Amino acid sequence: MSKKKPWYIENPDSYNTLRREVENIFPELSFVERVGEVCIEGDLHILDNSGKVLYRFSIRVKLSEQSPRGLPTVWETGGRIPWERERHMNPHDGSACIYLPEEFWYENPNGISISEFIRGPLTGFLINQILIDKSENHKWLKGEWDHGENGIIEFYAEHLGTSEPNNILRCLTMLRKKDTKEIKGHWLCPCGSGHKLRDCHRLNINELHKRIPSEVTEASHTKLKRAVQELRNSH
Ligand SMILES: [Zn+2]
Ligand SMILES: [Zn+2]
Repeated sequence: MSKKKPWYIENPDSYNTLRREVENIFPELSFVERVGEVCIEGDLHILDNSGKVLYRFSIRVKLSEQSPRGLPTVWETGGRIPWERERHMNPHDGSACIYLPEEFWYENPNGISISEFIRGPLTGFLINQILIDKSENHKWLKGEWDHGENGIIEFYAEHLGTSEPNNILRCLTMLRKKDTKEIKGHWLCPCGSGHKLRDCHRLNINELHKRIPSEVTEASHTKLKRAVQELRNSH
């Protein structure tokens, strides 16, 4: 099976347009093209209301390979943010967890542009880190998903009304199917009600399937399955 080429190789015109746009808006950021990846690197300035620079963060933003409007991967490269789950930083590679991928796609079914991403969610994430530093208990301030597999469970619990990991796993098994038609109405609903899907959470499942790409549900399935097995082995 040949891997699909990244969009920025397939479509150099839209890549150049995007690059010009980002470099115009953020003169301190530049594009770095390496084998197999394109990153935006440099300083991101957090301004006050009068436009004065309050904080500077060194960042590296790796473009999504799937789409110019897909979810990028972000690192803070200045060593300011500790690699801790409580900070929504992934301890194994130091990448920032700006979004639970499910949340990103559910909120933005068509994705968002990279400059919107930098100005909106990424800047918000960095401001949150400053607020954590300034707060007394060093806790994440805005109410949102827990990190890692707990975040996955919380997200699906909201849509299915169950936080039982095995139910969420069954839901993910359905959602990772490529075509909605492969998800059969006579199957038992993954919420655990004992009803058939067509008489229960069919519409919720359809909506989740429509908005969230199958690579995302596939990755969450793998992550959650591993967590459930580890939990079982530890008992
Ligand atoms: Zn997180
Ligand atoms: Zn149900």
